[in-house]
Amino acid sequence: MGRAFVYVILGGGVAAGYAALEFTKRGISHGELCIISEESVPPYERPALSKGFLLPEAPARLPSFHTCVGANEERLTPEWYKEHGIELVIGTQVKSVDVRRKTLLTGSGETISYKVLIIATGARALKLEEFGVKGSDSENVCYLRDLADANRLVDLMESSSGGNAIVIGGGYIGMECAASLVINRMNVTMVFPEEHCMARLFTPKIASFYEEFYKSKGVKFVKGTILSSFDIASNRKVTAVNLRDGSSLPADVVVVGIGIRPNKSLFEGQLTLEKGGIKVNGKMQSSNSSVYAVGDVATFPVKVFGESRRLEHVDSARKSARHAVTAIMERNQVDEFDYLPFFYSRIFTLSWQFYGDNAGDVVHFGDFSGGTFGAYWVRKGQLVGSFLEGGTKEEYEAIAKATRLKPEVEDLAELERQGLGFALTV
Ligand code: FAD
Ligand code: NDP
Repeated sequence: MGRAFVYVILGGGVAAGYAALEFTKRGISHGELCIISEESVPPYERPALSKGFLLPEAPARLPSFHTCVGANEERLTPEWYKEHGIELVIGTQVKSVDVRRKTLLTGSGETISYKVLIIATGARALKLEEFGVKGSDSENVCYLRDLADANRLVDLMESSSGGNAIVIGGGYIGMECAASLVINRMNVTMVFPEEHCMARLFTPKIASFYEEFYKSKGVKFVKGTILSSFDIASNRKVTAVNLRDGSSLPADVVVVGIGIRPNKSLFEGQLTLEKGGIKVNGKMQSSNSSVYAVGDVATFPVKVFGESRRLEHVDSARKSARHAVTAIMERNQVDEFDYLPFFYSRIFTLSWQFYGDNAGDVVHFGDFSGGTFGAYWVRKGQLVGSFLEGGTKEEYEAIAKATRLKPEVEDLAELERQGLGFALTV
């Protein structure tokens, strides 16, 4: 025996929180919606974990960053779910799902059934073991995906203040954690395989600006190599990080951010998968019409790319969740999800935003010596992507609008000359 709901959201992260709010806006009855989450707290704004949460002074702590404060909407506290008659089954892992029978089996042995399921299981951090390196479970090695990880990192920073922190990975986690570690007075070295940081998004010129800025804050870079092993003491603490180039770095704390894998294994063999995620249509509906997928785990058609992609960013999680709920409540009588990809980061005093696709020819503009600067990507004569560091609200809105309109660009030199002015006048 178990409980039955009309709507079940599997996963209790960003997408789940925004989906819950959208359900209440569109009017559901008490007892119709259930959220099942492995985490021990209701949905929160995950981006806070690598930013405000890691500050040494006045750090962000729950309940201040429950969803949906990140989009300037209501903060959904545990009481909010109670008041709205939403069943929160937290601290509970779903072990298996049967999409034919429309049931989920939890770790505590309960069977929960649904009429409509939203998969919002997000992703897990890739482990070093998957690259043949042992020692991820050492006392002072830290990943950063959930609140438990963030609490561990805060404890490690406190207990080894002034020590050496090695950051493995030059992506989002690496960049944001390195900045936080510096702010917490650690000596930081970043190690990554590429020639420059944020290789999947930044051009060498953009990366060079951030790397120089990080260097001015004391961060050292070891590029073009990867970790080969740890030296681990008898107290289960890593004392040094050994690199493939033969060098060795003393370590008090190691933070690893080497990418993620979507949590889709419960659905393998049951739903169509694509590009590492659960394939959905423009209504976020999977190959089973009663099952929708949103957020990091969903591979959906992105018009500006002209193909399906899986995005790993918070704006996409929020908006895809809302779109799925709209589609469910409107019995699929909705337009196709028309999403303009939006990524951002805030590090030290810097802040950037990116919209669209970083494909085609690149045109840089602005003041790369510390002012406002950016880049446009032009593919087949159209603007498809825009990046801006240090912009105002209006300037960010302008590059977003320009990128969505995909204006024609005939002359790259002229685009470079106009710079930000091009977006402001589109
Ligand atoms: P998640 O938020 O990861 O939620 C998934 C939920 O599902 C979790 O609660 C998980 O425990 C649960 N779950 C999974 N499997 C099961 C199961 N079998 N049973 C029960 N529960 C399960 N993006 C940006 O755009 N900007 C940022 O600044 C930014 N900062 C970030 C900082 C950090 C530290 C991290 C980790 C990510 C950041 N991101 C950022 C990415 C962004 O947070 C994600 O894209 C977003 O959280 C995805 O939302 P989601 O709901 O799909 O997945
Ligand atoms: P990313 O994919 O951003 O970066 C991973 C980095 O690690 C890449 O530079 C990758 O190189 C490198 N790498 C891969 N394997 C190794 C290895 N064996 N040794 C050293 N480096 C390696 O993932 P993150 O872990 O940084 O971030 C995890 C998730 O969190 C992402 O979904 C991200 O979007 C999200 N996030 C987003 C933020 C934001 O939007 N502001 C902030 C924080 C997290 P290569 O490219 O060659 O594989």
